[in-house]
Amino acid sequence: MIRADHILQVRWTAGSGWQTPQIAPYQQIELDPAAAVLHYGFECFEGMKAYKDAWGNARLFRPEINLDRLNRSAARIALPTFDASELLKLIVRFVKLEERFIYGKPGYSLYLRPVIIATNSNLGVTAPTAALLYCIACPVGPYFSAGFKAINLEATSSAVATRAWPGGAGNHKIGGNYAPCIAPEKAAKARGFQQLLWLSGADDRITEAGTMNLFIVLRSEQEEQFELITPPLDGMILPGVTRDCVLSLARERLRPSGWIISERQICMSEIIQAAGAGKLVEVFGTGTAAVVSPIRSIQYGDTLVQCGLARHQRAGAITALFKEWIEARQYAVEEHPWSVPVSQIS
Ligand SMILES: *Cc1c(COP(=O)(O)O)cnc(C)c1O
Repeated sequence: MIRADHILQVRWTAGSGWQTPQIAPYQQIELDPAAAVLHYGFECFEGMKAYKDAWGNARLFRPEINLDRLNRSAARIALPTFDASELLKLIVRFVKLEERFIYGKPGYSLYLRPVIIATNSNLGVTAPTAALLYCIACPVGPYFSAGFKAINLEATSSAVATRAWPGGAGNHKIGGNYAPCIAPEKAAKARGFQQLLWLSGADDRITEAGTMNLFIVLRSEQEEQFELITPPLDGMILPGVTRDCVLSLARERLRPSGWIISERQICMSEIIQAAGAGKLVEVFGTGTAAVVSPIRSIQYGDTLVQCGLARHQRAGAITALFKEWIEARQYAVEEHPWSVPVSQIS
């Protein structure tokens, strides 16, 4: 992984609050072996991108959502929160220093990784008394450099493996949510699947796939009426920025032509029934890394559910449309308030 040149760092202590921010050359961070992050997982993070528009201006995409989410994640694990507008200004200073890593080509961007960890070194399991907020970055290219690649999911019921549970912290971007998913995911990969589809409850409700939010397009009873469905923000899924973009764009551009846009529970049984009746049109995942990720099939026990793609088709039409619509705003091909030139933030 190529990394950008710098690291943004801000230290915090319970006694003195946040210290003066520093941007330094990229470097190792020094931690006491007893640091709380290494023992109890006090860590939260964000994933966001800086883009370059056709005129060469660096831009951020809905950054306030990421920074508010970072604060909610931090609060959930008793880490200190930060003034989101001040952090945005720091990130802008950081991005300006790293501008040469934002290649002005379609699909390229600078991935930004803000993190907060607990650095206090007492072994008691208590609220952190010292923390470090930092941000690093790396340039990334198009996720699908050779065209879309549809993936096959293996559905796993929550009795077998789960990433989130009612009252848990699955709706936050905290490190502790990710490591426990890797062993079940590795096992699914060995069986030939690219990602797990995490189900919830005895009725096998859909939650998320890997680290993507999930969308399902159904043709409804009345022929030629369509429903776009995604699970609700009930604490079991991560509130994705890309998820929100898809919902907003769908309400703006699909609802006027009769589409139903639903944030609602959907079980495997409904998906299987729709597929059997020829009404499962498309399934796709969303996230900052890929924008949208087409899904070809879902293995559910002994049942293989085909998700509407023809054999040689790489992505559904609606999936491809959302990618086009979202990227048009990210790269300011369509001028829209979601994309902010860093020069306008100070
Ligand atoms: C980050 C993440 C997503 C996607 O969120 P975006 O804001 O769209 O990038 C979805 N699910 C999980 C578990 C995640 O960590």
